[in-house]
Amino acid sequence: MIAQLISIGNELTGGQTVDTNSPWLAQQLASLGVRCVRHVSIADELEPIRDAIVEASRAADVVLITGGLGPTPDDLTREALATAMGVPLRLHTPSLIHIEEYFKRRGRTMHPANRQQAMIPEGANAIENPHGTAPGISARLSRAAVFCMPGVPYEMKEMWQRGVRPELETGAGRLVQERILRTFGMSESEVGERIGDLMRRDRNPTVGTSAAELIISIRIVAEADHAEACQGMIDADATEIRKRLGDVVYGEADETLATAVGRLLIERRQTISTAESCTGGLIAKRLTDVSGSSGYMLQGFVTYSNEAKSRLLGVPSELIATQGAVSRETAEAMAEQCRRASGTDYAIAVTGIAGPTGGTPEKPVGLVFVALASAGKTIVKELRLGDNLRREQVRDRTAKAALNLLRLSLIRTC
Ligand code: AMP
Ligand code: MG
Repeated sequence: MIAQLISIGNELTGGQTVDTNSPWLAQQLASLGVRCVRHVSIADELEPIRDAIVEASRAADVVLITGGLGPTPDDLTREALATAMGVPLRLHTPSLIHIEEYFKRRGRTMHPANRQQAMIPEGANAIENPHGTAPGISARLSRAAVFCMPGVPYEMKEMWQRGVRPELETGAGRLVQERILRTFGMSESEVGERIGDLMRRDRNPTVGTSAAELIISIRIVAEADHAEACQGMIDADATEIRKRLGDVVYGEADETLATAVGRLLIERRQTISTAESCTGGLIAKRLTDVSGSSGYMLQGFVTYSNEAKSRLLGVPSELIATQGAVSRETAEAMAEQCRRASGTDYAIAVTGIAGPTGGTPEKPVGLVFVALASAGKTIVKELRLGDNLRREQVRDRTAKAALNLLRLSLIRTC
């Protein structure tokens, strides 16, 4: 079964309010095995709403509409649905009684406009609204079961749970479940090349990728009659993807590079410290964003000036003078001295040119050295992130590269 969602209101199309109803409903539908294929938002205008209802009802099995059920003249959903169905609006007496009682209980007099809220298209059914005045509406139109709910999110959710979801559960299709793998260190196109055959559109599960700030996410969505079958299919794909991508996969769902690193440090009972120049403490922040990080993150230095690198870490000032603050040698010395000063198993150090100013032909913006010191070994990685990035992107990517370097070392030395 497929669904389309229509959200109604000038505040949505005008950009004052973000439509939160549609994503919420789409997820609810997914849990019932109903796939949502379209979201539209329409202003408070009769004909566009009517046209959207007609179109959606021809194309989908389920149409969910939110908003436009209020008592004011700009609330047009009832009328638009009636017009789409080619029927008049009729007074629904039980709803009128509910509205009258709603006002009576609150000691208020009912405004005549509220009577309008008890009007529903002939042949349609009212859905009770325990939290507000306007009843919802359910109707059949063309191919679709159409449901109209209030725009106010908590009223909508209550009506969905009590009056709409149960209707769909009986006729719903198969269950849909998903899992997301997170990767770092490979481009989206390379990921696509390696798992392209799994991404064919006619498969079940479906596999898709998306990219955000160098994290490539792989979403596996399976459809089956019951949860175990979904999980079995997802497990098989996840195992295959992990096999093909190797340690580029750092976690699942909400995991970040910092939580992945934290998990590994705890497992190995090892500790970390940081010495940061161009990231100004961002790596220490990311590490300590993770609850429980006090078990492994012992100390962070922000050594921005050359003088601080020498005074706090003990990097020889001659080394900085001869090699430069942004150099392989300085990064290496920062990491080793940080590890010594902190007494940790590992130390991360970064030094680079975050830009947009400060670059030279030899040392352009985006040149960063990331060092990782451990017992008897220091690795230094040179990053050339390019001079077209914003300052915060250079810092973000540097932090990710540093955390990933640590992660890979932890995995490979187990
Ligand atoms: P309505 O039912 O159209 O009178 O909507 C009442 C109020 O609910 C609006 O003023 C919005 O603040 C809120 N609202 C309506 N539709 C949505 C939506 N799709 N997402 C979030 N809030 C909404
Ligand atoms: Mg409205």
